Amino acid sequence: MKNGFLIDMDGVIYRGGELIPGADAFIRRLIEQRVPFLFLTNNSQRTRRDVATKLTRMGIPVDERCVFTCAMATARYLARCKPNGTAYVIGEGGLLTALHRNGFAVVDHQPDCSAVVVGRRMFLAMLETAVQLILDGAKLIATNLDPNCPTRHGTRPGCGATVAYLETATGARAMSIGKPSPIMMRSARKELGLATSQTIMIGDTMETDVLGARQMGYRAILVLSGSTREEELTRYAYGPDLILPSVADLADPSIDLATVVPGGDVSDDSVPDLATWARTAG
Ligand SMILES: [Mg+2]
Repeated sequence: MKNGFLIDMDGVIYRGGELIPGADAFIRRLIEQRVPFLFLTNNSQRTRRDVATKLTRMGIPVDERCVFTCAMATARYLARCKPNGTAYVIGEGGLLTALHRNGFAVVDHQPDCSAVVVGRRMFLAMLETAVQLILDGAKLIATNLDPNCPTRHGTRPGCGATVAYLETATGARAMSIGKPSPIMMRSARKELGLATSQTIMIGDTMETDVLGARQMGYRAILVLSGSTREEELTRYAYGPDLILPSVADLADPSIDLATVVPGGDVSDDSVPDLATWARTAG
């Protein structure tokens, strides 16, 4: 049976600026075996082309179509809600580009889709504007709720920290689109043309990668090359299907990628027609 992979990057493919040894061999194997895959990131800072270039320079030559960011998921979602809308944006190039590509204009007052969209980069004056727009009725949309992100120079505040500031100041509650939101998890699966039972998420973070997969009925592989230690798993009410030290383990040719995580849930792959439903209901 065909499987495909949604693959987190930070802590799975690289850590900071360093490639995780063997990650390149795993991706090469996917390409050689024509296994569908998509890199999935909650980083809204870069465009998909920026991300593909970063990966290529690290020795993983991939096309930008292999990358799906929370900025893209957010822009597509907003464009479906309000075609050719406008939004006030606290964020960076990747988010602005994604909004423009999806027909949005970025404004600094009276956003007509009533949305304040939050990525990571912010300045106090932008927060003050956003607070007023939200109090005037704009909806608060977050690209993700990650509390912080690891960098080469330590830990920096994430989008979730900015969103918490805006929520506290306004009493509003944000809607978040990035992992683990089903909006991004579902869009990514559809981007690959896979069914629920064919989709496997690989990530290093329980709160986003594994929870996102669990909520969608996807299978999940947790790798221990990033933010999670195995002894922490008892704290969670959910877990992955498989735990591996690193994606390098999946580069081993003796491992069959089609059966590495058994048991895809086919119950979401199709819906019964009404006649079948009527015969079986109750
Ligand atoms: Mg990660």
